[in-house]
Amino acid sequence: MKTRRATQEDLNLNHIVSRQFDRAAALVEQPQGLLDQIKTCNSVYQVQFPVKFGNRVEVFYGWRAEHSQHKKPVKGGIRFSRIVTQDEVIALAALMTYKCAIVNAPFGGSKGGICFSPRNYSVEQIEKITRRYTAELIKKGFIGPGINVPAPDYGTSEREMAWIADTYDVFNPHGLDNLACVTGKPVGQGGVRGRTEATGRGVQFGIREVFKDRELLRRYGIKGSLAGQRVAVQGFGNVGYHVAKFLEEDGCQIVAVGEYNGCVVRPGGISVNKLAAHRARTDSILNFPGAQSRPDPGAILELDCDILIPAALENQLTLSNAHQVKAKIIAEAANGPTTPGAEEILLKKGVLIIPDVYLNAGGVTVSYFEWVKNLSHIRYGLMEKRFNELSQERLLGAIESLTGHSLPAALKEQLVHGAEEIELVNSGLETAMALAYHEIIDIFKRRKKVTDLRTAAFICAIEKVATTYRSLGIFP
Ligand code: NAD
Repeated sequence: MKTRRATQEDLNLNHIVSRQFDRAAALVEQPQGLLDQIKTCNSVYQVQFPVKFGNRVEVFYGWRAEHSQHKKPVKGGIRFSRIVTQDEVIALAALMTYKCAIVNAPFGGSKGGICFSPRNYSVEQIEKITRRYTAELIKKGFIGPGINVPAPDYGTSEREMAWIADTYDVFNPHGLDNLACVTGKPVGQGGVRGRTEATGRGVQFGIREVFKDRELLRRYGIKGSLAGQRVAVQGFGNVGYHVAKFLEEDGCQIVAVGEYNGCVVRPGGISVNKLAAHRARTDSILNFPGAQSRPDPGAILELDCDILIPAALENQLTLSNAHQVKAKIIAEAANGPTTPGAEEILLKKGVLIIPDVYLNAGGVTVSYFEWVKNLSHIRYGLMEKRFNELSQERLLGAIESLTGHSLPAALKEQLVHGAEEIELVNSGLETAMALAYHEIIDIFKRRKKVTDLRTAAFICAIEKVATTYRSLGIFP
């Protein structure tokens, strides 16, 4: 295993996000008081709670931060990790505020976490911990359809969201809108189709936007189209698996995939579904047939590839490895994977960094769709699908009788097809990601002092949040 050079780098994510904010705030014309209000985390709930496992009682530590209530409810994931801290949760809540503003999801930012590693607990134990944490949030008013709406994040999935929804329902037996208290639920329990894969799908849409932007690609000396790019993905969880799968479908070569215990490398390309099946069988991505296995989890970041996608945790690209990065594009699917020191080195090397605060916003975008679905109590597309199909059939029938020609059956079927929920969700997500990209890129290209996409994205967010505060009448 390679030894890494120790650095004095500040790896506190809260400090890092603050620095990112300050860099952008310096280029924004807003009163200092307003900028201070936007930057500060409004409230944090810290909780300790006991959980009984047989004859043993264990105390757990958790948090829920509400960074900004300029729009309500506030929204953000819940993380289960043994390294989660209050500062990390505050930083991630701040990123949520900016992320929601960037993709025009009408929420303030929030985040939660419990300090434990699910890997070391049984499913029954994780359920007990999740339900007890939810009860604590209910007690203090840190969860509710109009207050604070959690979602999955690192270490959690639709399974935990279902337990949260059920616990909330038990405490609020007459609540008509209870399902809207949490998003990322299973479809059978009020979830929306496409939410599980939404963050990965959003990353795909964001990268596609970059590859449509010939001017940007020229500026960074990036050649070719998206198909054929060699991609390395760090983290093969929800986000990493889906983004790898979608980019493979777009014709990229997935040349390496990394996990906490090492990475697998195959310059000719890894079949994502086969790797997922191998992991399901052996509980590890290592020893995947036909690929080289490396036990060093950090090695993936320095591999020869075109696009590097960190999709695990923060602080992966640091002063100690940034010089070794070979990729031309860093697509930040994870939150906070690049430290400011590493970013400076990478930008000097001419690497294009597509920032987390934009790129992984697909999850919250589709969570927004799920929340609206829960409040409207109806599946997307139900009312209009058949009506649209009949209208199309009438239109095609009229064209056929006027021209005297019949359309081929397969084409007719395609033209008549009315949209299903999944198609509407993906279409809404693509629109949101494309719109946000153009807003960010406009700031990047038009404002001379803005020299990177992260600063452009933060400016985009700060200006939108500032507009909301001003319209609320709090600031002149
Ligand atoms: P997940 O728990 O499903 O997957 C994370 C994966 O990373 C796991 O398989 C884990 O074993 C692996 N991992 C841990 N340490 C690693 C290391 N050192 N090297 C390589 N892999 C490692 O989590 P997720 O939901 O996919 O989230 C991943 C990242 O994406 C996090 O930063 C999260 O905040 C961010 N994110 C997630 C969502 C979402 O909707 N789930 C939305 C926005 C952002």
